[in-house]
Amino acid sequence: MLSIDEHDFTIHKFQLLCEAIVATYPTVTMSEYMNKEHPARFVLMRHDVDRMPGHALETARVEHELGIRATYYFRSIKSVFKPEIMMQIQDMGHEIGYHYETLSEANGDPEKGIELFQSHLEDFNDVCQVKTICMHGRPLSKYDNRDMWKTYDFKDYGIIGEAYLSVGSELNYFSDTGRSWNNKNSLRDFIPNKIEDFTADTTDDLIDLIESCELENLYILAHPERWSLNMVDLGLYCGMDMAVNLVKKVLAAVRT
Ligand SMILES: [Zn+2]
Repeated sequence: MLSIDEHDFTIHKFQLLCEAIVATYPTVTMSEYMNKEHPARFVLMRHDVDRMPGHALETARVEHELGIRATYYFRSIKSVFKPEIMMQIQDMGHEIGYHYETLSEANGDPEKGIELFQSHLEDFNDVCQVKTICMHGRPLSKYDNRDMWKTYDFKDYGIIGEAYLSVGSELNYFSDTGRSWNNKNSLRDFIPNKIEDFTADTTDDLIDLIESCELENLYILAHPERWSLNMVDLGLYCGMDMAVNLVKKVLAAVRT
């Protein structure tokens, strides 16, 4: 049986990724990037906390010890919205944002969606000051949560930007969705009109790309719950990821 050190998407591998980043690039948070307060070369590290917020605390610690500042987007659902965890992560120097899904929650009704958004945002702002937001792409929902901004403007709610809509095409985007960095498994998890020139299958490939210093910047999305803390975790998660990918493939086939 393989030891945890030989697997990809473990907290150990995450540590190696972070070590490669700090050795080659400065890191910036989402609001620093959006306010254009960043150097020419940088890594923008984003984390979507979809479930198991305890994992976010682990990745936040690894980054903090190395001096990385990342941006963590928390969902507003009860099992993820944990003020004590969010405050600890913020105290480490990371940025906290809102991973919203209110158009799905409101079954596509933008008016109801914005009401929910405002109310959840108030809950977030009681814990930390939210400057940026990021849509949660529910794979099984027919609504794209970003569509709410066709009717409303997030700037009216004190938000400076959205992690998909307010980023430039100069960013080289890498996401761990589908347990690979090359984004083939994702239906919605992409930046519109962006053609990816660089891909990386494994985290080792991504580390090589970082160490080569070829890219001016990297916009990295990592879901903390995908990075297993132990072998049991790893077994459970791989099984579940495979099932979700299968459903996504079927949906993609039906839609095309
Ligand atoms: Zn999400």
